[in-house]
Amino acid sequence: MQKNEILDALRASDASSLFETAYRTRNDTFGQEVFQRGVVEFSTHCRKNCQYCGLRAANVALKRFRLSTEEIIAAAHCAIEAGMGTVVLQSGEEQLDIRRVGGIIEKIKNLSDVSVTLSLGDHDEDTYRYWLDCGADRYLLKMETFDETLHARMRPGQTMKERLRRVNMLCRLGFETGSGIISGLPYMTQEMLADDLLKLSDMSLDMIAVGPFVPHPDTPLAPYSAGSMEEALRVTALLRIMNPKANIPATSALDALDVNGREKGLHAGANVVMPSVTPEFVRARYNIYPGKNNASEPVQELIERLQQRLCNAGYKPSSARGASPAYRKTA
Ligand code: SAM
Ligand code: SF4
Repeated sequence: MQKNEILDALRASDASSLFETAYRTRNDTFGQEVFQRGVVEFSTHCRKNCQYCGLRAANVALKRFRLSTEEIIAAAHCAIEAGMGTVVLQSGEEQLDIRRVGGIIEKIKNLSDVSVTLSLGDHDEDTYRYWLDCGADRYLLKMETFDETLHARMRPGQTMKERLRRVNMLCRLGFETGSGIISGLPYMTQEMLADDLLKLSDMSLDMIAVGPFVPHPDTPLAPYSAGSMEEALRVTALLRIMNPKANIPATSALDALDVNGREKGLHAGANVVMPSVTPEFVRARYNIYPGKNNASEPVQELIERLQQRLCNAGYKPSSARGASPAYRKTA
C-alpha cells in the first residue's frame, strides 16, 4: 500500500470494507484459529524511564516485585496446562541475571513442546545469542514509534536508530522477531502512523503488535487522552492487509479501552491473544497502564473466560506453537 492509501483508510468516514478485507485476509492464512500465548510478567524493576509506562524507574508509587525461578516455572506450567502453545517471559528492563534467564528458558522448554518468547527489552548481542542458544524461539521488541523526534521524547536517552539496530540484530541472529508500535501516543500524527506502518511492513517481521496508548496516572503523560480504539483497529486491519502471514495479536491494551477489545481486534484481522498468566498475588502490580491485569481471579479461570469469549465470537482457541508462516530461520 502507498502512504496516501493508508492515510485515506485512517481518515475514511466508514471503515467497514477495510475490516472485511482484513478479516478475509486473516482467514485465508489462519482460518478461525487463534494462537494463545501465556505471558509471565516476572519483574517490574526497570532502569528506563519511558514516558508512557507505569513501570518507569521514576515511578516511586509502584510497589515492585520480582518472581523467583520456581514461581516463574510454576506460572509457565499453569499456562501450558491451560492450553497455551507459547510461554512469553516479560519484564521491566533491569540488569538481569543472564544465566538465570537462560536456565528458566531451558526449564520451560523441558516442560513441554512449547515456544518461548522473550520480551525483556534492550540487551547486547552476546546476551541475545546466549538466550537463543538456551532455546528461546522468539523475541518481541517494539519500536513504539519510528519517528526520531517522538521516539526520543517518549523514551528519554534512547534513539529510534538504536532500537531499530537491535530489532534487526534479533532478526539476523535467527529469532522469530516481533516488533510494533503504540498508536495514539501524544504528539503522534496520522502521517507518522502511516510512515510507521510502511516501515513495520518493510521489515518482514514474524509478529507485529499495535496497542493503543493508555495514560497511566503516575507518569508524565497522565494528562493526555488515550489513543482512539477505532484508530487502533484500523491500524490492526491495515497491518493485516499489508502483512498477510504475520502473527498479529489482539493486544491487552485493546481490552483496557473496551470490554470487547480483543474480539474487535480479531475481527479487524488479528490472530493471536496474549493473556497474562502472572500469579494472582502480584498480577495487579504489573501495572503498565490502568485496566491491565486488574482481575484477581486465578489464572485458570481467567484463561477459561477468555477462551469462552473467543468461542462465543466464532474463533477456535489453538494450543499450537503458532510460528508465523512468514518465518524463515536466517542463522
Ligand atoms: N521492558 C520491555 C520493553 O520495553 O521492551 C518489555 C516490557 S514493556 C512493559 C512492554 C510494552 O508495553 C512496551 O513495548 C510498550 O509498547 C507497552 N506499553 C507500556 N506502557 C504503555 C501504555 N501506557 N500504553 C500502551 N502501551 C504501553
Ligand atoms: Fe521499562 Fe519497558 Fe516500561 Fe520502558 S516500556 S519503562 S523499558 S518496562
